[in-house]
Amino acid sequence: MSVAVFLTPQHPDGVEVDPTRPQLLVTDQAATRGDGVFETLLFRHGRIREEEAHLRRLAGSALALDLELPEASHWRAAMQLALGRFHEGAGEGAEASIRLTASRGVPSEGGTFWVLVSGVSRSAATSHGPEDGLRVVLLDRGYDAAAADRAPWLLAGAKTLSYAINMAAQRWAQAHDADDAIFVTSDGRVLEGPTSSVLIARRTDAGVTLLTPELETGILAGTTQAAAFEVAGEAGWSLGYGPLTPADLLAADGVWLVSSVRLAAAVTSIDGVSVPCDPELHRVLVEGLDAAL
Ligand code: PLP
Repeated sequence: MSVAVFLTPQHPDGVEVDPTRPQLLVTDQAATRGDGVFETLLFRHGRIREEEAHLRRLAGSALALDLELPEASHWRAAMQLALGRFHEGAGEGAEASIRLTASRGVPSEGGTFWVLVSGVSRSAATSHGPEDGLRVVLLDRGYDAAAADRAPWLLAGAKTLSYAINMAAQRWAQAHDADDAIFVTSDGRVLEGPTSSVLIARRTDAGVTLLTPELETGILAGTTQAAAFEVAGEAGWSLGYGPLTPADLLAADGVWLVSSVRLAAAVTSIDGVSVPCDPELHRVLVEGLDAAL
């Protein structure tokens, strides 16, 4: 079941609409150009996870696209309205994904803004154990590590509605005996998954280090990656940012794809080569993320 709420000038805090009926005009630039931004949040264990971080990132993405957004307080109110209606139907506390979408709207009529709350199936929400993790392929993103800096119009690091490339990468992976993909720059830097951030852990005599690629390459600043860094920090692990190469992934003691709804999924092979995932490190990450605010 899903609940949809639009934020309109008449109803800035949201008004429920029927998600099974058409609600967007065919001229809306979300549909005609993929011109807009979005966020996906998780409601789990009775709360919206990382709400402020998601609202901040939505604002940052909108700024990059020069898109005017409703105030954060209106998004919060609309989320509460949608969640309330969702829980009336799905049961108190039921787990849900909350998608916030901001489109440039119909030309010269201002933006279109809505919240969509949908149930999350257990298998999608539950982290894979190291034993049932993901086979991934490395895919060339087609630009080098400095492109984000050189070409801001690429909107690297903004969470735009233009996800056709990301979906194509996942289809490519699935057509090539894999479950998901990790993008790599043309000059060999690890970036991110099509819908996830990449984490790797290294264990040495000196302790455990958790690493993620550097944001300057134009990857999305992941809210789950940030939460994982907090978890790891509390566990006494060292933290660091790339540059990371494919060789770093293959030599790691654990590689994970992390994102808001999926949380942490261990990677078990890369381009057909098995990679280990230390079960103890996996447990710390998965349990910590599950408990994290
Ligand atoms: N990178 C990309 C391209 C994504 O689409 C996502 C999430 O959908 C992420 C990273 C992970 O972000 P978060 O942990 O905030 O969900």
